Amino acid sequence: MAAPFDYDLFVIGGGSGGVRAARISAGHGAKVGIAEEYRFGGTCVIRGCVPKKLLVYASRFRDEFEDARGFGWTVGDTDFNWPDLIAAKNREIARLETIYRTNLEARGAVLHEARAVLTGPDTIQLSDGRQIRARNILIATGGAVKHQAVIDGIEHAISSNEAFDLEALPKKIVIAGGGYIAVEFASIFNGLGAEVTLVHRGDKVLRGFDEDLRDDLMAAMTARGIRLIMGKTLSRIAPSDGGYVTTLSDGTVHASDQVMLALGRAPNSHGIGLEAAGVDVKPGGAIAVDEFSRTNIPGIFAVGDVTDRVNLTPVAVREGHAVADSLFGGRPVRVDHSLIATAVFATPEIGTVGLSEAAARAAHSAVDIYRTRFRPMRNIMAGRDERMMMKLVVDRTSDRVLGCHIFGPDAAEIVQMAAIALGMNATKAQLDATMALHPSVAEELVTMRDKLTG
Ligand code: FAD
Repeated sequence: MAAPFDYDLFVIGGGSGGVRAARISAGHGAKVGIAEEYRFGGTCVIRGCVPKKLLVYASRFRDEFEDARGFGWTVGDTDFNWPDLIAAKNREIARLETIYRTNLEARGAVLHEARAVLTGPDTIQLSDGRQIRARNILIATGGAVKHQAVIDGIEHAISSNEAFDLEALPKKIVIAGGGYIAVEFASIFNGLGAEVTLVHRGDKVLRGFDEDLRDDLMAAMTARGIRLIMGKTLSRIAPSDGGYVTTLSDGTVHASDQVMLALGRAPNSHGIGLEAAGVDVKPGGAIAVDEFSRTNIPGIFAVGDVTDRVNLTPVAVREGHAVADSLFGGRPVRVDHSLIATAVFATPEIGTVGLSEAAARAAHSAVDIYRTRFRPMRNIMAGRDERMMMKLVVDRTSDRVLGCHIFGPDAAEIVQMAAIALGMNATKAQLDATMALHPSVAEELVTMRDKLTG
């Protein structure tokens, strides 16, 4: 006879998706266990979104000090201390981790600090020796750094994981990659005073983003002193003089004291017993799920980066919440993966939602583009040359706004609000009818009248 069930739901992985599912399920009255092999909070809290944004804040004080002079301030000598920043960041992350744990415990979930591996469709082996039987299992093991590039000496490179805890701020760093993590770290290190070289095999960073965002960001990064080398890859990293010499595919060499790879992440689906449980995996390692995050095995669900749908924290959280409500809340919930606003916290930053111009032109017969580039009031006084870009992509037939793309200060904050309007199928006429809030940069979104191209 099979052992009785220990839990109604056992969650593998205490990150964004897993914690939300566990907390809400326990709140619905389910008996919930959750296993985390590293630190509760997962990638986002421990070595992703949160520490990254803290470093972004730190890196932008240089601009504040410089700009203050244009407004009558005399700024004395400034100095930056990397170990102090990292210590403060670590304290904040420890605080958040405690909150995650406390919230789970307060709802009655049982925390297991162990690695969990499936041994069958309803059984789990924990690394502390315990065996668990659960009525339902949620796999929320996230993603992990995966560098497939063939680089001689790749072991000398760091990834974003280590970048958060370096002992010293690099004076010079070579970063490889063209995704959001690569450009964000390039801006962070640049803002903190390092000499940054960004190497990417494509011709532009941020593949898939609107071309105007890509072009404007690359121009601004270059103007800020980041050396962008496009169309090249890293072929060799060799230790030299306490640092490294990196050889690129064109044979050029670049000395630095750190080399960081941001060349991709992959679903964390290996070695967790998926074969033993019979769970289907797609090529590339993503767990295959339906719109309710159900795998092919009844009672086994998967959410977040391990399913490689849209790899962002709010998406994992929403998927985890939906599983909890579907299982124990008495109402099946699907997650809508359309119109997800996203940011790139480079400096200046990007906020974007909806279709790029290229994607809109591919999907719609007639598209109108509204675009403005302007120097924000603050930049004029500060003597800062940087321009802001805002762009609306509109379906001519229905007048619906299909995409909103912003490059410049506070772009992320503005786009979050624009996402509400797009989600409600706002038309360009409705944006135009909205009274402007003056003076703000966001008012440009409701005052753009001139069509760029028909
Ligand atoms: P995770 O948060 O990765 O959690 C998975 C957890 O499972 C981990 O804690 C892991 O230790 C644990 N685990 C794995 N295997 C086992 C096992 N067998 N047993 C027990 N525990 C296990 N997203 C945004 O929305 N905005 C951002 O600005 C942003 N910035 C990012 C910056 C960086 C540098 C990185 C790397 C990611 C960033 N992300 C950002 C992405 C975001 O972090 C992820 O989308 C999100 O964390 C996914 O949540 P998850 O629950 O799927 O997995």
